[in-house]
Amino acid sequence: MHTAHPRGLSPTEVGDFLALIGKEREQRLREAARRIRKQVGAGTLWHVNSTAAGGGVAEMLHILVPLYRQLGIPVRWAVIDGDDRFFDVTKRLGNLAYGSVDPADRLDPADVDHYLTRSAMEAKELLALVGTRDLVLLHDHQTAALVPDLAGAVRGVFWRCHVGVDAPTAGSRAAWDVLAPLLERADAAIFSIARHIPERLPDHQVAVIPPVIWPYSPKNEPVPRRMRGPYLERAGLGRERPPGYVVSEGAWDPAQPLVVQVSRWDRLKDMHAVLAGFVEGVPDARLALVGPDPTAIADDVEQRRWFEVCRAAWSELPDRDRTRVRLTCLPMANGDDNARLVNVVQRTADVVVQKSLAEGFGLTVTEAMWKGRAVVGSAVGGIAAQIEHGRTGLLLADPGDLKQFAELVTLVTEGQVDGPGLGARARRHVRDTYLPDADLLAVDELLSTHTT
Ligand code: UDP
Repeated sequence: MHTAHPRGLSPTEVGDFLALIGKEREQRLREAARRIRKQVGAGTLWHVNSTAAGGGVAEMLHILVPLYRQLGIPVRWAVIDGDDRFFDVTKRLGNLAYGSVDPADRLDPADVDHYLTRSAMEAKELLALVGTRDLVLLHDHQTAALVPDLAGAVRGVFWRCHVGVDAPTAGSRAAWDVLAPLLERADAAIFSIARHIPERLPDHQVAVIPPVIWPYSPKNEPVPRRMRGPYLERAGLGRERPPGYVVSEGAWDPAQPLVVQVSRWDRLKDMHAVLAGFVEGVPDARLALVGPDPTAIADDVEQRRWFEVCRAAWSELPDRDRTRVRLTCLPMANGDDNARLVNVVQRTADVVVQKSLAEGFGLTVTEAMWKGRAVVGSAVGGIAAQIEHGRTGLLLADPGDLKQFAELVTLVTEGQVDGPGLGARARRHVRDTYLPDADLLAVDELLSTHTT
């Protein structure tokens, strides 16, 4: 267990944020902050997760922790230290929670034992940091086994789940066989969308709090059009044959609409099917599949495999399609640099697609909507909660239907629906729903209903 230190927010960012949400929302935010301060009292509100860098949870904590502090709420952030086996087990537990029925993800009793034993060591270290008056908010399955040791030792223990499955499978039931007993003594379990609350948790113990984005982070800050060129070249989407890890052939036609999916190279993101559906059914457009450099990701070797699947599919394309489809792997060494590249790629796309087979929430969708893009997303998980079909984006009812996928994308690329209009309404929806004041309001409500 070690403590993490968020990047911090500049006063200018906070000022810009308050101006963006306006006086009325600022007022509500300040009232919520005052009540949370009162709830926390002389204690501290702790966030605990499994990494300080990489992934949506870390990205959110880098914003929420400093924002809460600026609002006078004492907050600290701790990160658990697992060993390789612990993270192997929790990766599989996460896959199961996403519904995986792959035998490779199965957990045997010795795996669960290791998870519990290692968690007990982490709990002991956390108990040395926290006080009896503190409130602790644990994130995701990596921290769930800390609940029993914390309950009773601190004033409140909450567990927030960022993964989920729309329809339970044998895999997700197996995950919940492990998780549910651990959560019995939690004050509440929090989910990103109501649809992901497992039936077996009692109503009084659950709450819904969607993730939020920060408009001024390197991922989301405005980037003037005139400054985007060098980023696009580096991301492999410019005119030149780009440096680095990009699969492309020849020059492509910059006058054609650009379709983009930014995702980890993961089975559930279905990147190779995006490629197949696009090539088959979206004429006169370009496609970029954009993800992290899989060779730089030590703890997720599966990404290399799925990237290779995409590369193999690309290399079998006819010449005319090979030039209009690119696969690009963004450098990972510097998180802010990676985020800026993602930012510019999303901003430049005419259509952002997210053809996931399952999704906890889908931050890439929120990010693209915030940037005013027309988004075509699968109607799964949080994507279905974020997009209102035909108003703030387009929803693909069956994520496996490549023909329908291509039809929806073509509606935008050929201008048969008003892409900029979808994008403008999408941006307003994110402004109204998924900015950090929504988190404070929800946490205020959570603490006032679940702490004594
Ligand atoms: N992301 C990134 N670089 C990449 C690919 C993804 O920074 O090369 C970010 C993306 O912008 C988003 C997060 O990773 O903020 C992915 O979150 P999401 O909820 O969409 O999916 P997850 O990967 O958590 O399943």
